[in-house]
Amino acid sequence: MGGCDGESTNVCIRLFINLIRWLPVIFVTAIVGWAYYAYVYQLSILTVESLSLQILYLLVFHILLILFVASYYQTVFAPLHKPPAEFYITRDCMEELNDSSEDNNQSDILQRFVQLQGLPIKVRAFEGGVRYCPKCKCIKPDRSHHCSICSQCVRKFDHHCPWVNTCVSFHNYKFFVLFLGYGFTLCLWGALTDLPYFIEFWQNNTVNNRVVFGQFNVVFLFFVSSMFCLSLGCLFFYHLLLTARNRTTLESFRPPLFLHGPDKRAYDMGIFRNYRQVFGSNPFLWLLPVYTSDGDGVNFTTRQLMESREAVRLLDCTDEEDDEDFFNRIV
Ligand SMILES: [Zn+2]
Ligand SMILES: [Zn+2]
Repeated sequence: MGGCDGESTNVCIRLFINLIRWLPVIFVTAIVGWAYYAYVYQLSILTVESLSLQILYLLVFHILLILFVASYYQTVFAPLHKPPAEFYITRDCMEELNDSSEDNNQSDILQRFVQLQGLPIKVRAFEGGVRYCPKCKCIKPDRSHHCSICSQCVRKFDHHCPWVNTCVSFHNYKFFVLFLGYGFTLCLWGALTDLPYFIEFWQNNTVNNRVVFGQFNVVFLFFVSSMFCLSLGCLFFYHLLLTARNRTTLESFRPPLFLHGPDKRAYDMGIFRNYRQVFGSNPFLWLLPVYTSDGDGVNFTTRQLMESREAVRLLDCTDEEDDEDFFNRIV
């Protein structure tokens, strides 16, 4: 009975923590719901008098809103990408690790495992060894990190965002940038179109000569949209900059470590290629919240590999298969 009670208490605690984690998403949904009522009903229908302006306001607002909500939904609900199965330690390797007490031995065992499996690992841990996650019992692919909130290793980890209640990482980074971009544009549109009515209220305490309780929504709409416009705008332009440099938020604070040392610009292939990695090769799909990112979140071309390939070409070595060996020799 005692065990059962303990189990149900744990379930209750887990449910409670889950509910707390969803609160920011519920808050965002509630704000969007209220903003819809304030913009569509109070501003566009009750306050704006010109029919052509009403149509313009509602049309632009709804297009931006649909793109914003779709990007947000995709960011929140796209399934997280764990490391592929071959990165997880086999039972034999685990037994070897358990039998070995010295750190050096463990590092050698992990290095052997990486070579045996042929894992594409170039990033190193601080002590120079292979990066290993003892919680997930896997080798961390390059640019992956363990998220303690999601309790798993995540490919190309950027950061854990409470506003979307999930990791921002390889699987949803494009959606996240679009969510910030459409959120910023939507709030900017809301603030600018609301501005004349906000000023009118501020000067006369009325909007269109009517003092109606509902008109306060028009005033609050300006405050809320301006505030979110500012915060989303800062984040949006910061992530545009990170994408241009092919850097995650984590890497901008802590550069990835290679055998030749830390390299902040390790994955910087030039702005166009960097953007294509996140947004894909079809420009018609860049602005749509559909998955188009390049790659698998595990294999990453480094700037050094690209430059070494260039060097090989210059030396008139045309054998493509030798490029990787050449790179391994020079790092
Ligand atoms: Zn992990
Ligand atoms: Zn997470």
